[in-house]
Amino acid sequence: MNAFEAELRARFGARLECGKPLAAFTSFRIGGPADFAVEAADEAELSAALAAAHRNQVPAFCLGTGTNILVSDRGVRGLVIRLGEGFKKIEFYGCRVNAGAAVPFGELVARCVERGLAGLEFGEGIPGSVGGALIMNAGAFGGELAPVVGAVRGADRDGTLRTLAGNEIQFFYRRSVLPPGFIVAAVRFDLLAGDRDALAAKVAQLKARRAARQPQGVPNAGSIFKNPPGKFAGRLLEGCGLKGERVGGAAFSEQHANFIVNLGGASANDVRALMDLAQWRVEQHTGVRLEPEVKLVGEW
Ligand SMILES: Cc1cc2nc3c(=O)[nH]c(=O)nc-3n(C[C@H](O)[C@H](O)[C@H](O)COP(=O)(O)OP(=O)(O)OC[C@H]3O[C@@H](n4cnc5c(N)ncnc54)[C@H](O)[C@@H]3O)c2cc1C
Repeated sequence: MNAFEAELRARFGARLECGKPLAAFTSFRIGGPADFAVEAADEAELSAALAAAHRNQVPAFCLGTGTNILVSDRGVRGLVIRLGEGFKKIEFYGCRVNAGAAVPFGELVARCVERGLAGLEFGEGIPGSVGGALIMNAGAFGGELAPVVGAVRGADRDGTLRTLAGNEIQFFYRRSVLPPGFIVAAVRFDLLAGDRDALAAKVAQLKARRAARQPQGVPNAGSIFKNPPGKFAGRLLEGCGLKGERVGGAAFSEQHANFIVNLGGASANDVRALMDLAQWRVEQHTGVRLEPEVKLVGEW
């Protein structure tokens, strides 16, 4: 046992897991083992895990619900941190809402609509956690998280807990810039008072649109590539004949060309090979280099 493992073992006991396979923690159902994995129950444990990793120069990675990542077949070197019960609270203060980073984003959207709070309806049907949504600046149907983020609480890579004001965070299309290695513990959303029935109707409409467009019931990680400025990645991929293209157990969806689906037993390398093929073919045909939206995680 090395010094890092001993330190974490002393704090987390049997809750420290070594060599834990990550496939079950991703929506792709793909991914090799993490050297070390812990679920932090609260902010104190999050801080302690990060501090130990920092002291021992071990990389730390925060796993949300794994709906926007492709974990390599070799897995993740270092420490994977998941957020547990202490990060699952939602608190309402008028139009301000504090949500823990491990709250399912869809649950937050539903609870806000129920209370007639406007600003998050675009999030209907976006899977994942509040923390993941913040990191990805999740968005759909013309809306995104950025305009409603009031403040973010979390931990720096050395474990120091602090709060960032919304305007300290830069948001871009499917990307936010936080201090390096920062792990989000909670987000304050500044919403507006709205009409509950009108919000519910809007959400129902978005739900139907999503169901008609996206592959259902088969493991995937949402859009594989970002939309290039002024263009749709799905149309470019479809135009280059990629719908249905298959490598091993992975294939571009017949329903939506910007989704890669795991047809059963796909490896991360299968998905990666399909992504490479698509980038190559689209660039040759159109001159556009597609940028992945899905994050490649682990040792490749
Ligand atoms: C069927 C389907 C449909 C989708 N539709 C959409 C859509 O319409 N719009 C959209 O934007 N996305 C969509 N996605 C992608 C995905 O749901 C979002 O990006 C989501 O916000 C990711 O959240 P997560 O908790 O699963 O993050 P993960 O996939 O676990 O992680 C994503 C990144 O965030 C980081 N991260 C996660 N939590 C934290 C935290 N607490 N602190 C620091 N870093 C953290 C991870 O380290 C990683 O870098 C879709 C995915 C699927 C499978």
